[in-house]
Amino acid sequence: MTVLPSIIIEVAVPLPIDKAFHYLVPSRLAQAALPGRRVLVPFGGRRLTAYVLKLVENTESTKLKEILDVLDDEELWTDKELELFRWISTYYMHPLGEVLKTALPSGINLQTRKSTDNGDEGLIGGRSVRYETYYRPATASEPLRALGSKATALLGFLRQEGENPAGELRRRFGQCAPQLKRLVELGLVEREQREVYRDPFRHEVSVRDVPRVLNQHQQAAFMQICSSLDRKEFAPFLLHGITGSGKTEVYLQAIAHAVEQGRNALVLVPEISLTPQLVCRFRARFGGGIAILHSGLSDGERYDEWRRIRRGLVRIVIGARSAIFAPLEQIGIIVVDEEHEASFKQVDNLRYNARDLALVRGQLERTTVLLGSATPLVTTLYAAKQGRLGLLDLPERAGGSQLPVVNTIAMQGIKSTISPQLHQAMSETLAGGEQAIIFLNRRGFATFLVCGECSQPLTCPNCSVTLTFHRQRGQSVCHYCDYAVPAPGTCPSCGALELKELGAGTERVEHDLAELLPEARVLRMDSDTTSGKGSHNRLLSRMANGTADILIGTQMITKGHDFPGVTLVGVISAEASLNMPDFRSSERTFQILSQVFGRAGRGETPGRVLLQALNPAHYAIQCAINHDGDSFYNQELEFRRETGYPPFAFLAAIGISGTAEQAVEQRGEATATLLLLLKQKLKLRVEVLGPAPAPLYRLRGRFRRQILLKAHSRRELRRLITEWLSHRTPPATIREIIDIDPVDMM
Ligand code: ADP
Ligand code: ZN
Repeated sequence: MTVLPSIIIEVAVPLPIDKAFHYLVPSRLAQAALPGRRVLVPFGGRRLTAYVLKLVENTESTKLKEILDVLDDEELWTDKELELFRWISTYYMHPLGEVLKTALPSGINLQTRKSTDNGDEGLIGGRSVRYETYYRPATASEPLRALGSKATALLGFLRQEGENPAGELRRRFGQCAPQLKRLVELGLVEREQREVYRDPFRHEVSVRDVPRVLNQHQQAAFMQICSSLDRKEFAPFLLHGITGSGKTEVYLQAIAHAVEQGRNALVLVPEISLTPQLVCRFRARFGGGIAILHSGLSDGERYDEWRRIRRGLVRIVIGARSAIFAPLEQIGIIVVDEEHEASFKQVDNLRYNARDLALVRGQLERTTVLLGSATPLVTTLYAAKQGRLGLLDLPERAGGSQLPVVNTIAMQGIKSTISPQLHQAMSETLAGGEQAIIFLNRRGFATFLVCGECSQPLTCPNCSVTLTFHRQRGQSVCHYCDYAVPAPGTCPSCGALELKELGAGTERVEHDLAELLPEARVLRMDSDTTSGKGSHNRLLSRMANGTADILIGTQMITKGHDFPGVTLVGVISAEASLNMPDFRSSERTFQILSQVFGRAGRGETPGRVLLQALNPAHYAIQCAINHDGDSFYNQELEFRRETGYPPFAFLAAIGISGTAEQAVEQRGEATATLLLLLKQKLKLRVEVLGPAPAPLYRLRGRFRRQILLKAHSRRELRRLITEWLSHRTPPATIREIIDIDPVDMM
């Protein structure tokens, strides 16, 4: 009797276990269980999706369990992509299975959800394909039995409006699957599933446009990029260009060059900049073959785009952070626009930074990488000045418009949120038929309510922050956990009735403007007014088409759209972002103010900026006012050198959290002790700081402490963390996360 050699595969599982597992493949699945596919495996009493990494030599197969099924009939990732995933797993010290889970579109991970009544997820050949369930009124007569109120409302709605997709019904009526099921059973409503292919920007019409003649600076940058594209080697660049200097035009032409070579392009932008205007610009230039990935996509939509890319139907992928994982092959160029944006970093689960990974992927795939920004990270500029990135400068605005003049209004002793000067300037602007933007990086009406009797502010019971008063909602709300109480009410500390409003937010500015300029058509844009799908773009297009005069907003207004009609920018509380407990707060303030100023005077009329601040002397504010990036960069580097922060040190943070305060405290102390012990034993030059309360000590009911590790050698820093990981035994009630900050990496 001949014994068939058994096939054994090595798989990664999406669990916090940093280890690969071996399984036996039964002969019926032998043809299908290939590397790059997902399989269903028995794992500790349950079934789990696992990722096949490779076939392994026949070892002791007797003890191994058999896989149950193969979930894919084609490969989901290439060897090169696996190389990237392995790099990520090692660098961020995160299990490979969880990296794979993060990298693959979530639509694909829903393999256990068979077609459900209310869900839109179907299953074909182990892969979920986007379906939408449609409901329409049946021609049947009146219900024989009394229906519940929600069912009655649903039926009435369908009869009036006709067919509607399940998603729309859920949006209007909340969770309504049981009611719909009942209506179908009663023959009052019919149901049908259809495969849909949705394009989130399908309504945007683009006109064809042609490349512009590049100005001399753009041309110089473009030539350097082209020659690196022609060499087909890894070549990283910083494209440092002031707002409006024509960076996007350079991206477009560089991408065209790569596409002419038969190669593809990956473009990463901050979520907030991924506007129809940007998408239009790409469509107008390149026509089809573009995939868009952003957080507004449903799992199904995302999976649709993912499949188009995987099948080679796409030349250009534009997306936010997670697009760094797009299954695009033959990449010629990776662009990271606004490379300084903090939103490229994912802050939960796998804590990766897409901007850094662009450089890593570029290195693995030998591509050109273009980091673009008007206000690059201090660490990026430093790397460029050291010659580790090619530096391409665009020092002038492309259209010839000038940067605005900034005037400062000291707010000492001024009670109102809007100073008389700013009020006056707005009146003049509107009288001239022009538009204004008012920036304040704080939403809500008042920052918080304080008791007039006992002076206690209203705070969140779950988080260590004050509640923000939202006048329209009539609530005080926690911006971290969404805890809300009716407000104004009585003081929870002393029961007094008088609560005072302190600190203005965007809602307050809107309210005050309505009194100061009752004629003005005012829009407010912050995360309270843009939660609905498409609302963000609706607000922007009202500014663009001139049906609004003033746009008030948070950080959201600083990007994405070009408003030629805006000639005045007002900044309220310019120093608001300086008070964050973060060594990057000066950098962020400089960046955000520069971006806001860049909104003024993009058109023919020169723009002006009025900046209100209590203390405008800080160098971050002064350098932004003078459009003096060099001076800011030098002062900030000096500060970083003195305090030992990047680029002069490598950092990692260990976060320790749990719901029992004392246990978290003890764990923090024990962790620091262990780290110090290991450091001494191994003679590692690493500073162990803390444990200290995290900047948000209490968040969503969890107490949080952190330990900061600082070192001059990345190797020594990583060695200490690796040792610590292999020695630690965290109690089940404690969560420990490592945040490895690859600032200054190449
Ligand atoms: P950035 O991305 O640096 O903010 P853009 O590429 O959006 O700049 O360019 C700003 C404006 O200048 C846009 O309206 C763009 O069409 C225009 N522009 C860019 N390059 C040129 C050029 N070479 N000639 C004329 N106009 C240009
Ligand atoms: Zn809270």
